[in-house]
Amino acid sequence: MPNCDFGGPCDCLDCRTDQFSVKCPHCEFSNDLTVVGHASYTRDKKGTSGYVFSYPTRTKDLICYSCSKVIPGVRYYDSYNETMCQRNLKIEQDKLNGFTCSSCDATEGELKGPLIGGFIVKLIKYENKLYCESCIVDIGRKKIPDPSNNNEKYIFNGKTLKWELYKVKISCPSCHKNRWLNAENRWKTMCKKCYLNL
Ligand SMILES: [Zn+2]
Ligand SMILES: [Zn+2]
Ligand SMILES: [Zn+2]
Ligand SMILES: [Zn+2]
Repeated sequence: MPNCDFGGPCDCLDCRTDQFSVKCPHCEFSNDLTVVGHASYTRDKKGTSGYVFSYPTRTKDLICYSCSKVIPGVRYYDSYNETMCQRNLKIEQDKLNGFTCSSCDATEGELKGPLIGGFIVKLIKYENKLYCESCIVDIGRKKIPDPSNNNEKYIFNGKTLKWELYKVKISCPSCHKNRWLNAENRWKTMCKKCYLNL
């Protein structure tokens, strides 16, 4: 929902529009649909006000965007979400063409994980196989040994497919105490305590 009215929904078209999807029982295609609702302004006894939205409760037949078969009696909608349906079609095509992660089967462009906090799958080629951004980290980690040792810690970067220096152990030249520093802070040879006592 867009943040129109200081973070709260208002009665603009965007706020009144609800998005939902109906899975086709014939081909499993996810039909993304939109419906425009009606907004009414309310104010309760405590003085809290805002908009509540209501949507038509009747049903409507739907022609599957992908296989054109009729799906009877779905939740009332106004139209397809063209952008989403086109994207879903492309994902279907890519799936058929084997454009998927070799490890988890995710397809390019597909949403993986929860709607919020998930990510859009992007496939990366590694040793002639395709992997999603999440699986490639596991694969890379297993294939390339972690160079971490007693004085250096590395973390695996899924974008560059390299172990990158993360923390270094540095002993303070003044009190000789060891501490872990983020790699970019390694120039701070002296510990904070000694530095402040200079
Ligand atoms: Zn709005
Ligand atoms: Zn269908
Ligand atoms: Zn994967
Ligand atoms: Zn020190």
